[in-house]
Amino acid sequence: MVQDAKRFLSYICPHCRQSVIVERDLFSLAASPTRIKCPCGKSELTVEFLPNRVQMTVPCLFCGREHAVSCSAHAFVREKALAFSCAASGLDCCYVGEEGPVYAATARLEQAVDKLEEESASHGAFLDEIVMHEVLSEIKDIAARGGISCACGSKSWTFQVNYSSVDIICADCGAQVRIPAATADDIDDICCKNTILIRGKQRT
Ligand SMILES: [Zn+2]
Ligand SMILES: [Zn+2]
Ligand SMILES: [Zn+2]
Repeated sequence: MVQDAKRFLSYICPHCRQSVIVERDLFSLAASPTRIKCPCGKSELTVEFLPNRVQMTVPCLFCGREHAVSCSAHAFVREKALAFSCAASGLDCCYVGEEGPVYAATARLEQAVDKLEEESASHGAFLDEIVMHEVLSEIKDIAARGGISCACGSKSWTFQVNYSSVDIICADCGAQVRIPAATADDIDDICCKNTILIRGKQRT
């Protein structure tokens, strides 16, 4: 008998910022690729067992992207707490392991997130000042051309600057879209865009 056939997995949802911590049976994880959705429905962690490795995709709160991470199947099954981190920010984005250590690590990460957001709100501390500056000025250009709109039909919006991303929020329905502002690639991505669409509630 395998003694501990359960694994706890956690990440912080980039959309609603809640911690998602779930318990999964190892046998069912190994049996078929698993999707672990945030209750808000807007992000999901995927877990897939390969012959000797476990491959996961993790939605990242810090850079707004998805990270493909993997580890040995042995580590996935045995470690008390495995941490996977965001390549752009160096911060953790996912934990796998036993109940206690995973909950503790996730709580520490939540505190780190709160602290980063306080700092960026109070004295404009960003992961990368230049990237943030460029991304903001691109957003401003798109806005000046009237390129920001919401699927609900609204054209009024506000925005919030985070540590390594910018949220554009529909002033009418409250839907939001996260623009990553962590790396030089994020500048390239936003430079290619003529418009930004917030995927709000569609009018019926
Ligand atoms: Zn969520
Ligand atoms: Zn990341
Ligand atoms: Zn809207």
